[in-house]
Amino acid sequence: MKFSFYNEPFEAEGKKYLYNIFSTALIEVDDELFSAVKSDNTANVNTEYIEPMKAMHFIVNDEVDEYEEYLYFYNSVRYGNACKILQVIFIPSYNCNLRCPYCMQGLNKERKTIDDNGISAITNFIQNKVSESRSSGVPISELSIILFGGEPLIAKKSIIKFCETVKETADKLSCRISFSMTSNFTLVDDEVIEFIQRYNITTQVSFDGTKEQHDKSRIGIGGKGTYDVILSNIKRMNDEGLKNNVVVRLNIDKNNIQDAEEIMAAVAPYSNDVYFGFVDKFKGSNDAFSECISNHDYADIIDSQLSEIYKKYGYPIPRPFGKMAPCSLNTENRFIIDSELNVYKCEVIVNHKDTMAGHITKDGFFVPSGSFFSQMGHTPERNPKCLKCKLLPLCGGGCVAKKYIREDKKDGNFSEVDCFMDEETLLKYLKAYAKRQQQ
Ligand code: SF4
Ligand code: SF4
Repeated sequence: MKFSFYNEPFEAEGKKYLYNIFSTALIEVDDELFSAVKSDNTANVNTEYIEPMKAMHFIVNDEVDEYEEYLYFYNSVRYGNACKILQVIFIPSYNCNLRCPYCMQGLNKERKTIDDNGISAITNFIQNKVSESRSSGVPISELSIILFGGEPLIAKKSIIKFCETVKETADKLSCRISFSMTSNFTLVDDEVIEFIQRYNITTQVSFDGTKEQHDKSRIGIGGKGTYDVILSNIKRMNDEGLKNNVVVRLNIDKNNIQDAEEIMAAVAPYSNDVYFGFVDKFKGSNDAFSECISNHDYADIIDSQLSEIYKKYGYPIPRPFGKMAPCSLNTENRFIIDSELNVYKCEVIVNHKDTMAGHITKDGFFVPSGSFFSQMGHTPERNPKCLKCKLLPLCGGGCVAKKYIREDKKDGNFSEVDCFMDEETLLKYLKAYAKRQQQ
């Protein structure tokens, strides 16, 4: 037997802990076990600890190759279990009624909106995918439909029609179906409320800080702020019994972190799901925005400033060090489809023609581009650095899409990765988490 390559021993507030990055088990240990792990000497492990430690993956049998074990998990998710769900992120238009400076769609939005033929093509595509899957190994049993933009409510008629036809298709195919939407929530009217109710749509809405801060960035075309209208639309959702359908993301950055509690207090009464989020900076896409918070900074902030706020308002404190499964980029049956029936594999790279994964034909068949295979082929196996990296189960081999956009690449080649995490940051998260558990 041997200690797991993915063990991370650490100390916090005078106590000793062991975390396993593969299994995500975290235990407090005595001095003897801690030094056995630190000195990599399994002979010093108390025999009664061995079986429980094996069960939590802190100890593995000599013949186990943990890198292969992680890859098995990774590949079985992307070509196995995850494929039972067909996820379609539908972009009816890249257009939006707002002009946020960090918008990935830039300030001059494309105005084209999907037409009825486009909606039929996507519905046919869904039908074809489900039918094909039923004669292959992993039948699709569930549809996950996400309305995205630009601003999806700017194309209200189209999204209503789309959801109606997709729901009929799901019923015909005996598939479960769920709907969600990311919206700026400024274009809410009676019809939208009824639409959200009918399809039980979970709607993600964002604020950019206090009213004063928000009204400087989430602005309409004429520069007018949108805080009051969004808050009043969320209150309306509460009045209509739809509080559970609103998820609120509070964007914090270097300019508003000191006001985090005030930001939370204003919104918390109106949603059961509120969390702090960060806007990322991508060269060439949202150059006007520069005040983002890095993952490294976040590790300090969550401990020193945000955890108390989460606790006070009754929301779970995020635990950003779990095991990472593959993302939509290289997982089967994940498609982002826009108004021109172009297909992308990741939200970060939509509307960049060089990253197009293919397109949908009028009769609903997916025709892949060369880049599709480069994107689907992204795995940690391609990167010798990941093979030797103990953070692999937490990072999943990094993000190729962010790397591609951050570096303003144009060649459709997705072989370089952005690391999600470094060991110092992980240790900060773990120590802060262990400290909170002691309180
Ligand atoms: S609301 Fe969203 S889509 Fe519209 S400008 Fe702002 S970030 Fe872009
Ligand atoms: S992308 Fe970076 S952090 Fe992630 S597994 Fe590979 S080397 Fe490690």
